[in-house]
Amino acid sequence: MAKIIRGDVIAQLLSDQVRIDVQELTAKGVRPGLAVILVRDDPASEIYVSRKTKLSAAVGIRSLEHRLPALTTEDALLALVTRLNDDADVHGILVQLPLPKQIDSSKILDRIRPEKDVDGFHPVNVGRLSTGTGGLIPCTPLGCMLLLDTVISEYRGRNAVVIGKSNIVGKPVALLLLERECTVTVTHIHTIGLPDIVRNADILIVAAGSPGLVRGDWVKPGAVVIDVGINRVRGHDGIERLVGDVVFDEIGHAKAITPVPRGVGPMTIACLLSNTVKAARRLHVSTHS
Ligand code: NAD
Repeated sequence: MAKIIRGDVIAQLLSDQVRIDVQELTAKGVRPGLAVILVRDDPASEIYVSRKTKLSAAVGIRSLEHRLPALTTEDALLALVTRLNDDADVHGILVQLPLPKQIDSSKILDRIRPEKDVDGFHPVNVGRLSTGTGGLIPCTPLGCMLLLDTVISEYRGRNAVVIGKSNIVGKPVALLLLERECTVTVTHIHTIGLPDIVRNADILIVAAGSPGLVRGDWVKPGAVVIDVGINRVRGHDGIERLVGDVVFDEIGHAKAITPVPRGVGPMTIACLLSNTVKAARRLHVSTHS
C-alpha cells in the first residue's frame, strides 16, 4: 500500500517553524510584512488572497492587502509595486495572477524587487534557480520538494519525470530535481508516448490540470508520485469534488503519493510564508552589513 504524503500535516509543521522565525525576527525589530495585490473582482482569486492573508496573520506576519478595481491601469499598478519596493516594512510582494488584459503581467513581475519576490517569478530569481545560485524559489515547486524530502533520502541518479512545463510549476520543479542530480524528463501536451516515459519514473511530478490523466499502469512499482493538479469534477451524485491529475485509487503499488486535496495545495501557502520570512531575514542582514 502506498504511503500517503499528508501535505496538510507537513505544511502545519512548516508554518509552526515560520511562526517561531517570525517571533525571533520581530524581537530584533523586524516584523516580516507581506503585501498582496489583487486586481479585479474574481471570486477564485478573492478566496486565494483571503486565505493567504489569514494564514500570514496566524503566524504573525504583517499582511497588507491591496485590492484594486478591475479597470486599474498598468501604470497605476507599476506605481504601487514601486512604492512597495521602497517600503522598508514590506519584505514580500505578491501580485495575484491572472491580471486583467489591459495589464502586461510580465512588466509587473519584472518591476518587483527580486529580494521581495516571494513568488519567485522575477527573471533574476528564475535565473538564480536555473544556475543553482540561491534566490527565492517558487512556492509550489518548493512545496513539492519538501514533500519529496519526507520519503526520499537519495535523489542522485533517480529518473524523475515532470508532466507539465509551466513557468510556475513544471519548469521550476524540473530545475530543482536537476539540482539534486536526478535525470529529469519534462513532458507536456505534445509529448509522444507519455505513458511509456512515465513508466520509467522513480519520481513523478504531475502538473497538467487534466483529471484522470495518469493511470495506475503508467506508474512503476515503488515510484513516488506528487500530484499537483487541482481540478473541480462533478461526480455521478452531482456533487463537485476536488481531484488531482492522477487516478489516486489505482496507485497502491507506488512507494508514496500525495492526495488531492490535502497534498501540495497547503504546502504552497506554507512556502509563501516561509519565503516571506527568508526575504525579511535577508533584507535585514543586507541593510545591517
Ligand atoms: P498550465 O495550464 O500553465 O500548464 C499545464 C501544463 O501541462 C502545460 O505544459 C501542458 O502542456 C501540460 N499538459 C496539459 N495537459 C496535458 C496532457 N494531457 N498530457 C501532458 N501534458 C499536459 O498549468 P499550471 O499552472 O502549471 O497548473 C497545473 C495544475 O496544477 C493545475 O491543475 C493547477 O490548478 C494546479 N496547481 C496547483 C497548485 C497547488 O498549490 N497545488 C499550484 C499551481 C497549480
